[in-house]
Amino acid sequence: MAAIEFVNVTQAFDKNVVIKDLNLKIEDGKFTVLVGPSGCGKTTLLRMIAGLDRQTSGNVLIGGEDVTDVPPGQRGVAMVFQNYALYPTMTVRENIEFGLKNNKVGKEERKRLVESISETVGLTPYLDRKPAMLSGGQRQRVALARAMVKKPSVFLMDEPLSNLDAKLRAQMRIELIELHKKLGTTFVYVTHDQVEAMSMADTIVLMNQGRIQQEAAPEVIYRQPSNLFAAQFIGVPPMNVGDLAHDGARFGFRPENGILSTERQDLPFSVRGMIVTREMLGSETIYQVKAGRHSFMIKCTDDRLAVDQEVFLGVEGSKLFFFGPDERCIPQE
Ligand code: ATP
Repeated sequence: MAAIEFVNVTQAFDKNVVIKDLNLKIEDGKFTVLVGPSGCGKTTLLRMIAGLDRQTSGNVLIGGEDVTDVPPGQRGVAMVFQNYALYPTMTVRENIEFGLKNNKVGKEERKRLVESISETVGLTPYLDRKPAMLSGGQRQRVALARAMVKKPSVFLMDEPLSNLDAKLRAQMRIELIELHKKLGTTFVYVTHDQVEAMSMADTIVLMNQGRIQQEAAPEVIYRQPSNLFAAQFIGVPPMNVGDLAHDGARFGFRPENGILSTERQDLPFSVRGMIVTREMLGSETIYQVKAGRHSFMIKCTDDRLAVDQEVFLGVEGSKLFFFGPDERCIPQE
């Protein structure tokens, strides 16, 4: 069992409190993604699980055991870093088997392990190359293979795809999902990219300023955001938000739920506006519509509307969100 638990954990660097009294259970065997803006404390959480930093107060448990005093090498976790941290003078094979040699695994067993794991991540043809002769994606696979040979019960990944180009990133996302399925091990993955979080996670832990904003399956965060932050962090373009007339309350709707028309629409939300920008993306077009003091982004399949054109913008009642003055989302029946 490799469930991970944070119990009343605070982490401060000097007087800077980065994590504030955090409680979190990460389920065994699940793909959990920690996501949030830069500096919100994601890496700090990961480093506490790995044992690279010790929490200021509270407890960190792995598999039910308090690991506060367990050194990193004995926690059964393996970490994959953004920069891969490969040894440049070693071949792929040597990089992968390095940890095994340190752990005094016999030569035959090392060979068997390296070859089977290289096969799993598609590195077999490159075993004798040095990292400099590999593509970014191949280096990423070496870093993964190096973590895998340790047979950890928890994989920790800190923005492992951020050095790859968009196409390769999309491919590696799928490979990681498949790898997780194959291994059935706990994955904890840190990213600031909500697309990565949405596409890979069983559970998203959305953070801001050292606090958990929402912890739920991707579709739940998308459909039922807990607050304004969650509503605007998940989804591209972000949810449109406007002020309601009274008390600091606000309403919101997703860009894909705005309906544009040249005629007034009989909908609960309906305003007259002007198209100020138009971005054709192929199957979809994104329009920015200015309506009074608000500006809304609308994503739709109609690409025939033009800049400076007057339009009516409507939203169905079931697609509207409402937020109280405390920024919490008010559930609608
Ligand atoms: P990013 O997406 O930019 O990597 P993050 O969410 O992973 O951000 P952390 O690296 O966890 O953020 O950092 C959270 C905060 O803690 C930041 O304000 C950072 O400056 C601070 N911090 C992290 N490590 C240390 C340290 N060793 N000493 C002092 N401050 C630190």
